[in-house]
Amino acid sequence: MMITTNFDSGSINVINADHPQNINLRLRGDNQSCNAQWFHFRMDTTAREPHKITIVDAGSSTFAAGWSNYEAVASYDGQAWFRVPTHYNGKDLVIDHTPEHECVSYAYFPPYSQARQQQVLTDALTSKRCTHISLGHTPEQRSIDLLVVGRGQLDEGAKKKKVWIIARQHPGETMAQWFIEGLIARLLSNDETAEKLLDESTFYIVANMNPDGSAKGNHRTNATGVNLNSIWHKPSQAEAPEVYYVRKAMHAGGVDLFLDIHGDEEIPYSFMMGGKSSKQLTTRALTFKRHYEQVNADFQVAYDYDTHHAAGGQSCCGSSCSKNNARTIATDYVESTFGCLALFLEMPFKASDPDNQAQHVNPQDICKGLGASLLDTILHGIAKLST
Ligand code: ZN
Repeated sequence: MMITTNFDSGSINVINADHPQNINLRLRGDNQSCNAQWFHFRMDTTAREPHKITIVDAGSSTFAAGWSNYEAVASYDGQAWFRVPTHYNGKDLVIDHTPEHECVSYAYFPPYSQARQQQVLTDALTSKRCTHISLGHTPEQRSIDLLVVGRGQLDEGAKKKKVWIIARQHPGETMAQWFIEGLIARLLSNDETAEKLLDESTFYIVANMNPDGSAKGNHRTNATGVNLNSIWHKPSQAEAPEVYYVRKAMHAGGVDLFLDIHGDEEIPYSFMMGGKSSKQLTTRALTFKRHYEQVNADFQVAYDYDTHHAAGGQSCCGSSCSKNNARTIATDYVESTFGCLALFLEMPFKASDPDNQAQHVNPQDICKGLGASLLDTILHGIAKLST
């Protein structure tokens, strides 16, 4: 039996793997911080034999409360993913699975590779509506890619609403990039909603804010150990160029609507938060969320971090053990700087309804669907942006 992680976003440490019923692993953790949650590994083994895979330090991971009612995902081809029986006893996370084939991958959530990112970008650029701008480079010299989707002359573009959408500041939250894939596909599909949107707005999309962390298999931080969604007030060009350059591009052109896409380890529902700096924005945020709930059954407004904390739940997307203590998250910065509606979206690592078998097959499809549906809600919200 052999367990490997020497590929894009691979991450786990092997303690022993001498018998299918005695496989013990340890989370590897982010390269420059104490965060540990993401895992992704490949196992070459004997097919059709029960395997017991134990992650022995799950109880001391960054979001240990997230393991309750969680099921890992597996794949034989890296394309189709499915949930596998997983149990958490407060200390160990145990995966019980009988692989049908000799080669099987396991992950925290369906991984999103750099190769796929490149393919989506290349495909999008065959459309005349798309422009690619490399805003700068990460600490490990990867490009920080901005995709601009718009229609019309440049001078006309100045009058259009500027919709900024960023994803995957936290690299382990791969659902965010699946979401962006669904959104881009519909935006370029020529459907009626997309056409109307592009009449009135231009989209600025950063599909992956943290390509270094993604490639390294980090969960929370970039290559220098920074939690990107904590330093928007003063991003260092050296340590957090990802935010430094995106923020610079926002200041150069302005922002009329901002969405920051994430995943949450603990809460089994999709929800949005933001729009808290004025009564007008609070009302606009609620209208936006209620509309989204109407167009996609995988989104809801009843449960979020406020209700979660009120019910005694633990922390969320803001918590971190990275080197930055003071924190300004992206939505707070954008809302206070540009005075526009700025919301973050959280999608779950878990199935929101464990009894619904449809949620156990390709969970990334739910994220793509949410991305496509968001366009209906943005179109609905655009009319209100200028009021
Ligand atoms: Zn996040």
